[in-house]
Amino acid sequence: MSREIIVAAVLLALVLPLAIISLSPPGIPSPGDSGGPIGAPPSLPYTSYRVRPGDTLASIARRYGVPVDYIRASNRIADPRKLRPGEVLILPHGGVIHTVKEGQTLDDIAASYGVGKPDIIMANDLTGLPLPGQKLLIPSPREIPWLEALKLGWHPDSTFIWPLKGRITSLFGPRIHPIYGTPDFHTGIDFGVPVGTEVHAAAAGKVTFAGRQGGYGLLVVIDHGNGLSTYYAHLSEILVEVGQFVEQGQVIALSGNTGLSTGPHLHFEIRLHGKPVDPLAWLP
Ligand SMILES: [Zn+2]
Repeated sequence: MSREIIVAAVLLALVLPLAIISLSPPGIPSPGDSGGPIGAPPSLPYTSYRVRPGDTLASIARRYGVPVDYIRASNRIADPRKLRPGEVLILPHGGVIHTVKEGQTLDDIAASYGVGKPDIIMANDLTGLPLPGQKLLIPSPREIPWLEALKLGWHPDSTFIWPLKGRITSLFGPRIHPIYGTPDFHTGIDFGVPVGTEVHAAAAGKVTFAGRQGGYGLLVVIDHGNGLSTYYAHLSEILVEVGQFVEQGQVIALSGNTGLSTGPHLHFEIRLHGKPVDPLAWLP
């Protein structure tokens, strides 16, 4: 081998890695970049990432050390097989990214995810109240309401999810009253489930009633805006308070057998401008 070739080879070996590094600076966008990390100011609790051809949720999760569930919940990815190259994802740093909704307080958010309010304040360097639309990092959440919602039929085109999974024992509409034996109109649907079954908020909203009310027994009512509200009746335990903002999928109560009830079940209503409508027409 001639001396020139050896020198050239050594030079190439030295220069090539430098050239590769300078072609792909980590976290810094370059003109014509087709994918990869886009970067974010260091104060943001997440990195933006542009999906490259061949990426999967699992490969991105592995590469950046972020749990798949955190990426899914932060980006509302219902079907992980439908990642599109060019799509921009949020990669949260050690938790889930939550977008603050109108009327939602830090206490509400902390309760929804089962984390301490001080942890959220620290993780986001908050100095004041969060603003609607603001993206907050929820560090190491104990619950992720959206993942619960996904299991209960979450769909981008549907307002509601099922409050729980269980056998429907009575439909909406005219029926013979199970206790009085007289013609009656059933204003909701019943799920035959054991006492203590977790009941989830069918949509995000504000709790407007949480307590005992006549035949309903222990009742929770959630106002979802746009004239829509949901009723959860005959509960054994209520886990929310009036005025609290709850997330879709959040556990709000445990089912029971209180009030006018012939056996353990959840009575679930959807109301439009106060008038009960058939839940089956609204559920996914
Ligand atoms: Zn009922």
